[in-house]
Amino acid sequence: MHFLVYESVCSFKDNIDKYHNRDRGVRLKKGLLITIDGPAGSGKSTISKLLAKKLSYLYLDTGALYRAVAYQVTKRGMSAAGEERIADLCGRAKIRLHCVDQAQRVFVDGEDVTEKIRTEPISLLASTLSAMPAVRAALLSIQREFVKDGGVIAEGRDMGTVVFPEAEFKFFLEADVGERVRRRYMELVMRGENVDYSSLKKDLLARDRQDRERVIAPLRVAEGAIVIDSTQLNTEAVVNAMLAVVAKR
Ligand code: C5P
Repeated sequence: MHFLVYESVCSFKDNIDKYHNRDRGVRLKKGLLITIDGPAGSGKSTISKLLAKKLSYLYLDTGALYRAVAYQVTKRGMSAAGEERIADLCGRAKIRLHCVDQAQRVFVDGEDVTEKIRTEPISLLASTLSAMPAVRAALLSIQREFVKDGGVIAEGRDMGTVVFPEAEFKFFLEADVGERVRRRYMELVMRGENVDYSSLKKDLLARDRQDRERVIAPLRVAEGAIVIDSTQLNTEAVVNAMLAVVAKR
C-alpha cells in the first residue's frame, strides 16, 4: 500500500504546471517560502493571494488538494470506504495544479474541479479524509515539488509545522469563530449557494475540531510562526503587517 501511495506521488509530480506563467513570458524571480496556516474562515486564501500578488510569488492552496481527493471520492461513491481503498484511489488519480497570476486551478484526471470543490459537503469530507495518513502521504510530494524554487506563498493547516518547517517566514492566522462563520457564509452566498447559517456554523466547528484534534499533522501554531488575529483587520492591513515582517529581513 505504501508503494502505491509513492507511485501516486510520482505521477502527481509530472503533472504540476507551476511554470505556466513562464510559458506566457512572465519571469518569476526566485524568492522566499512563506507559509500561512490557520483555521477555516481566518482569511488565509484572500490574504495569501494578495500577498502573492504584491510579491509576484506563486500561490499554493493546499486545501484544494484535499478537496480534490474528496471530490474524487464523492464522485466514485466511496465516501464510506476505508483508508486502504482511499489510498488506492489516491494512487490512481492525477491531480494537477495550474497557477496563473496567483489564481490556482485544480484538475483531477483532466477535469477542472476548481469551483466544484468549494461546497460544504466537500469541505467536511476533505477534513475527514485529511486525517488519514495515506492521504497526507500521497499529497506531500506534490506540495514540496511545487515550492522547490521558492517564491511561493503556501497556505493550509500544516505548512509551517510539517510540510515546510524550513520556510523563511511562517504566519498563523486566527479570527473569532463568529467572524470566521460570517466570512465563510458570505463567500458561499457570493458564489450563489443556498446556505443555512446555523448548519454552516455547525460544520465549521466540526471541521475545526477534526483539524485541531487529529493525530497526524493537527492544526497548530508552528515553531517560530507569527500569530495574527484578523478579526478586526481587513485584508490590506493583514497583508501590510506581513510585508513589514518580510521587509525587515
Ligand atoms: O483550506 P481549506 O478549508 O480549503 O481545506 C479543506 C480541508 O483540508 C481542511 O478542513 C483540512 O481538513 C484539510 N487540509 C489539511 N491540510 C492542509 C490543508 C487543508 O488537512 N494543509
